[in-house]
Amino acid sequence: NTQGKVQQVTILGATGTIGTQTLDVISQHPERFGVFALTASTNVEGLFDLCIKYQPRYAVLLSASAASALADKLKSAGVATTVLQGETALSEVASHQDVDVVMAAIVGAAGLHPAMAAAKAGKRILLANKETLVMAGNLFMQAVIDGGATLLPIDSEHNAIFQVMPYQRTPYQQTRVLADMGVKRILLTASGGPFRNASIEQLHNVTRAQALNHPNWVMGPKITIDSATMMNKGLEVIEAHWLFNASSAQIEVVVHPQSVIHSMVEYNDGSVLAQLGNPDMRTPIAYGLGYPDRLVSGVSSLDLLKIGRLDFCAPDQSKFPCLRLAYEALDIGGTAPAILNAANEIAVEAFLADQIGFMEIPALIDSVLSKSNIEAVTSIPQLVDVDATARRAAKQWLSTLSVAH
Ligand code: NAD
Ligand code: MG
Repeated sequence: NTQGKVQQVTILGATGTIGTQTLDVISQHPERFGVFALTASTNVEGLFDLCIKYQPRYAVLLSASAASALADKLKSAGVATTVLQGETALSEVASHQDVDVVMAAIVGAAGLHPAMAAAKAGKRILLANKETLVMAGNLFMQAVIDGGATLLPIDSEHNAIFQVMPYQRTPYQQTRVLADMGVKRILLTASGGPFRNASIEQLHNVTRAQALNHPNWVMGPKITIDSATMMNKGLEVIEAHWLFNASSAQIEVVVHPQSVIHSMVEYNDGSVLAQLGNPDMRTPIAYGLGYPDRLVSGVSSLDLLKIGRLDFCAPDQSKFPCLRLAYEALDIGGTAPAILNAANEIAVEAFLADQIGFMEIPALIDSVLSKSNIEAVTSIPQLVDVDATARRAAKQWLSTLSVAH
C-alpha cells in the first residue's frame, strides 16, 4: 500500500519533450511525487535549470566533462544534487532501492539498458521509449514479469488501448490472450503526419524543415521524422504486439487526422471502445503516474463542438513504405525489428543532417533489412551486437550513396 507515501520518480530523458511534460504533471502534485533523479545526454544548461527547480537527489549526464561542468554549476548555486556520469549511472538511478517510479523517456536504442534495469528492479515503469519494445520486446516483457514491475504505456495510442482494455476488471497483466478477453482487434490511429496529402513526387523533395513541422503534436526531432515517414506507426505496431500480446493481423492502422481518438479496441460483440482527448501527452503521463487513480494533468477539456468532425482513412502504403517494412519485420520476428530500428535511427540522423532525401529513409532500411541475417533473440548483449552491425551496414549504404552523388 503506497497510500500517503510520496512516490520517488526517476526521469530518464528529463530535458526532452516527454521529460519536461512529466515534470509539469509532477509539479501539479507535490504531495504525491518527489523527484529522485533527472538524466540527459549532453544538455548541461537544460539539466542545470531542472536541478535548480526540482532539487533531485541525483542528476546524470553521459560524458565526464558534461557531468563535471554541471557539478561545478550546481555547487556555485548551492544545490546539493549529486552528479553522476555515464550509461551505467542511468541504470543505477533507474533501479535504485529508493525509487518507486521510472519514466523511460530517452529517445532511441540508448533507452534499452536503463529500462531493462527498471524492469528487473520491479519498478513502476512509465514507458515512452518505444524503441525498447521494438528491439527487445520478448526480453523486456519477461523482465517486467520476473521483476514484478508494473508497466504502463505512455505512447498515447498504447495508453488509450490500455485504458479501454478490460484489465481494470482483472488482475493487471499483459500476457493474457486477447481472444480470451473478448477482444477481436486493435485499431491504432495515426495522424498521417505532415505529408498525409502529399504526392509521391512531392515526398521525394520534402525538406527537413517541412518534415519537422508536425500538424498535431510537439515532439523531439527523431519521433517527428518517424511520424512524417509513418515509421512511428510501424514501431507502434510492434510496440502494441508486445504490450497487448496481439498478432500483426490483429493490429490495424487507421489514419485519423484530428488526433482526437488516440486508438480503439474492438470486441467480439461488435463494440468498439475508444479513448478521446486533446493531443497533449500530459494525459497519458498523468494516467501512468496516477494509475489506478485519475490525476489532474493541466490538459484543457476536449471541445468536440469546436472540432466538429472526426475523419478516417486507410494509410497509403506506397507513400509510406516504412509502415510496410515494420509489419514485415514484425512478421519475420527475431532480430528483424531490432535491425529495422537501428537502420531507421541512422537513416533519420542522415536525413536530419541533409545527407539523404526523405524517400531514401525507407530505401536504406529496406536494403539493410533485406541483407541482414535474422536470428532468434536470446540476450541483451546479442541485441547490442545486432544493433551495432545494422548501424554499420546502414553507414556503409550511406557511404556508397555519397560516392554515387
Ligand atoms: P527528445 O528528443 O525531446 O528527448 C530525448 C531525451 O533523451 C533528452 O532528455 C536527451 O537528453 C535524452 N537522450 C538522448 N540521447 C540519449 C542517450 N544516448 N543517452 C541518454 N539520454 C539520451 O525526445 P522525446 O520526444 O521526449 O521522446 C522520447 C521518447 O518518447 C522516444 O522514444 C519517443 O519515441 C517517445 N515518445 C515521445 C512522444 C512525444 O510526444 N514526444 C510521444 C510518444 C512516444
Ligand atoms: Mg504515439
